[in-house]
Amino acid sequence: MTTSPDLQHIVDAIRTRQRFVISSHSRPDGDSIGSQLAAAYALRALGKEVTVINADPAPPPLLQFPGVPDIMIGDRADGDFDAAIIMECGDLARTGVAGLERFFVINIDHHPGNTAYGQLNWFDAGAAACAELVFDLVRALKLPLTRDIATHIYLAILTDTGSFHFSSISPRTFDICRQLLEAGVDPVQVARDVYDSNNMGRLKLFGAVLSAMQIDPTGRIAIVYLDNEMARKAGGTYDDTEGIINLPLTVKEIQAVVFFKKTEDNQYRVSMRSKGDIDIGSIAKEFGGGGHKNAAGCTVTGPINALQKTFIEKIEEAIDGRPAHRR
Ligand code: 5GP
Ligand code: MN
Repeated sequence: MTTSPDLQHIVDAIRTRQRFVISSHSRPDGDSIGSQLAAAYALRALGKEVTVINADPAPPPLLQFPGVPDIMIGDRADGDFDAAIIMECGDLARTGVAGLERFFVINIDHHPGNTAYGQLNWFDAGAAACAELVFDLVRALKLPLTRDIATHIYLAILTDTGSFHFSSISPRTFDICRQLLEAGVDPVQVARDVYDSNNMGRLKLFGAVLSAMQIDPTGRIAIVYLDNEMARKAGGTYDDTEGIINLPLTVKEIQAVVFFKKTEDNQYRVSMRSKGDIDIGSIAKEFGGGGHKNAAGCTVTGPINALQKTFIEKIEEAIDGRPAHRR
C-alpha cells in the first residue's frame, strides 16, 4: 500500500501524542460510529488514551456493537487532550460538541465540500465510507485488524453504502470488505443486528408513514412526511425513523425520495435519497446542508406545501439533468 502524504502526517501526529478525543457529526450514523470506534480500538492498541464523544446517541440497533454503549454523549469536550480526531464531518460545528477547536484537530472525511478545518486534513470523496480511510489508517499504523476493528469498519461500509446500493461503491470497497471478513467479521450477523432488530412500534410507524406517502405527478419521486402526532398515533418513537427513507426506493419506478420530518412549527429536517446518477447532494447543499450524490440532508423552514413543491421541482431537474445513457 502506498501511504498518502496526508495519511502519513496523521500517523506521525498520532504516534507523538497520547490523549485523544474522537468525535463525529451530530445524529451519528453507522459510518460515524464505525469510524470512531474502529479508530478508538486501534489507538488503544497503541497504548493511547481515547475518549469518544458525540452530541447525540447512536441509533438504537447500533448499541449492540462493541463499545457503542460506552460512547460519551455531551455537547462539550471537557478535559485535556493532545488531539481531537473528527470523523465523517464536513465542518467542525456539525459535531454539535463545543471545545474541540482547543485541541490539535485531525479531520478525516469523505463528504464533498469538507471545509478542511483541521490542523491536519485527510479527505477522500472517492471513499464509499469514511471507514475506508480508517481501514488505511489502521494498516498504516501497522496494527493487526482485530475482529472489533474489522466489525466496526464493516458496519460503517454496510450502512454508508445503503447496504451496497449507492454508486460510491468501488472495487476497493470490496477489497476492504474481503479483508474484513478474513479478519473475522460475520456479515450475516452485522446485517441482522443493523436491519433486523426493530421493535413492533417502529414497524407500525413505518406503516403509517408509508400509508401517507405521496408520489409526484411523474411517478418518479416519493414524498414522505412525519410529525409528532403521526408518530404518537402509530405507537412508534419519533427518533426511530432511521431506514424509512430507503423503502420507497424499492419500487422500480421511484428514482428519488424526499423525507420531511417536522422538528418545530414550520421547521423540517429533510433527508433525500436517489438512485444512480441523480445528484441530490447538491440540492441539500443549496439549502445549507450536505451529503453525497445519493444520500443527503438539510434543515429548512417554511410552510410544508411550498417546501414540498420546491424540493419536487429541484429533484425533477436533477433527474432530467443526469447523463442520458442512464435515464
Ligand atoms: P441522513 O439523510 O441520513 O440524515 O443523511 C444523509 C447524508 O447526508 C449523510 O452523509 C449526512 O452526513 C449528510 N447530511 C444530512 N444532513 C446534513 C446537514 O444538515 N448538513 C450536512 N453538511 N450534511 C448532512
Ligand atoms: Mn459517511
